[in-house]
This record gives sequence, structure tokens and C-alpha cells, in this order.
Amino acid sequence: MRIIRDLAELIAARREFWASGQTLALVPTMGALHRGHMALVEAAKSHCDAVAVSIFVNPTQFGVNEDLDAYPRPEAQDIAKLESAGVDLLWIPDVPTMYADGFATTVSVSGISDGLCGAARPGHFDGVATVVAKLFNQVRPDAAFFGEKDYQQLAVIRQMARDLDFTHDIIGVPTVRDDDGLALSSRNAYLSAEQRSAAVALPRAMRAAVDAILGGDDVDGALAAAKQAILAAGFHHIDYLELCDAKNLTVLHALTAPARLLAAARLGSTRLIDNLAVVR
Ligand code: AMP
Repeated sequence: MRIIRDLAELIAARREFWASGQTLALVPTMGALHRGHMALVEAAKSHCDAVAVSIFVNPTQFGVNEDLDAYPRPEAQDIAKLESAGVDLLWIPDVPTMYADGFATTVSVSGISDGLCGAARPGHFDGVATVVAKLFNQVRPDAAFFGEKDYQQLAVIRQMARDLDFTHDIIGVPTVRDDDGLALSSRNAYLSAEQRSAAVALPRAMRAAVDAILGGDDVDGALAAAKQAILAAGFHHIDYLELCDAKNLTVLHALTAPARLLAAARLGSTRLIDNLAVVR
């Protein structure tokens, strides 16, 4: 695996993939890699001849009081995992490489970025869209892979790719979960043992709500019951729990279109997100 930290070297390496006729996949990450990230790598390997992974903890997608400094950065372990998964290229830029002095451009995807996590984390999706656009231009992949775990992020990136004529494939990969159903996340490392046991209430309550809605129950009633169960388990705040149109993420109060149930809730200082398909 080639580990590249310099942009000129990355661009030269990219030319070599073109010259060899190999297709190249990109898997953007913030590191602290777990089985969810590795599922993206596996999907990328099955779609393209070669796989590039990026690790960049992007400061512009963190709010002022968020966990940028505390975010885990186990670089040596991440490198070992990617090596053994057969990744071809690892792109690890530093902050000045991505945001040189005088950096002045923001990619902002209106509409789809506004609600849900966008409302709870102002500016977050501008940071995501900007850094992903930069990664797309730097790596020029034939396909890019993102987890459905971050469902709104995937929708924002699909919209950005359409609007800005990034013509490569954007491929969503289903959420990888622990045995008890909790979605894997780098932020699960923040949870104490007690909080980790409580955390499973989030996917359980969401699953019960999906089953109730699919069974014909009133949507708002099913969501109220789920919120009660999540708070009773020890979460102290629910940023949102909403049934949304699966494509444009507008909020639904009845199952009138293929839908997604999306949630963000706080357990201690840890913010967990999850989403489930709601399709008859
Ligand atoms: P992150 O490192 O958290 O920015 O995530 C990098 C990529 O991995 C994003 O596309 C995420 O959606 C994806 N991802 C994170 N957790 C999971 C998971 N449990 N299952 C599938 N994909 C995931």
C-alpha cells in the first residue's frame, strides 16, 4: 500500500492508475477504522481494480463545541487494517494541505442539508461537501463509496455530485452493526460500559417504530413511543427522530412514499445517529 501525504505525489500516483488502465475507487474516512469502514473497502474492491482510502479528520465539519480535538486518531492501527485489506493507496493529507492559508471556498448544498443533522449541526454539511469535493478533485475516482449509516451525508453528496458534474458513481453501502444492533461508529469508543448497554435502545426503539408504521400505526404516535423508550433508556436528548422521504428527506407524517426513519440522540456527551429503511 502506498501511503501518500503530499498532494503532488498523489496526483502523480493517480496518473499511474490512468496509464495502467486500472479503475480506481475512493473511500473517504476520518480514520479510527472499524468493520463499517472495512465494508466500504470490500465494496470498493469488488467494483474497481484498485482502491484508495483517505483519512482526514476534517476540521470544517466540526462545530465549535464538538469533539474535533478528542476525535480518535489511531493512525498505526488504521494503516495495518488497510494494508491487510489489500488497499492500494492511502491518502493522509494534513490540515494545511487541505486548507492552505487564504482558503476561501465553500460548497453548500441547500435544501437537503438544512434539516435533521444540518439543523442540529449548523455548517456541518458545508464542511462535508467542501472536503468531499476536494477529495473528488484530488483523487478523480471512478467510483466513491459512502455508508448509509450517514444517510443524510450520502444524500448531500449525491446532490452535490449531480449539481457539480462529478460523473463518477456514488455508491451507498448498508450500515454495519454490532451483534446487538448498534450501528458501528468511531464515536462508540467514547461510551462507558454502562452507556454502551444503554445505547442499543436507539436501534431497538427505531426498529419497533418502523414495524409499527409498516403495520399501519399512526406515524406520530409510533415516533412518540420510540422517543419515550430512548429517553427511558438513559439518552438525555433527542436531536431528532423523523420519518422522511427516502430520496429528498422531507419530513413525512404518513407513509406516502418510500421512507427512512432517521435519528440523532445524545448519551452523556456522545451523539449517536442511526437510520432504517421503511419500505413496504
Ligand atoms: P467517518 O470515518 O465516520 O467519516 O466515516 C467514513 C465513511 O464510513 C462514511 O461514508 C460513513 O458513512 C461510513 N461508515 C461509518 N460507519 C459505518 C457503518 N457502521 N456501516 C457502514 N458504513 C459506515
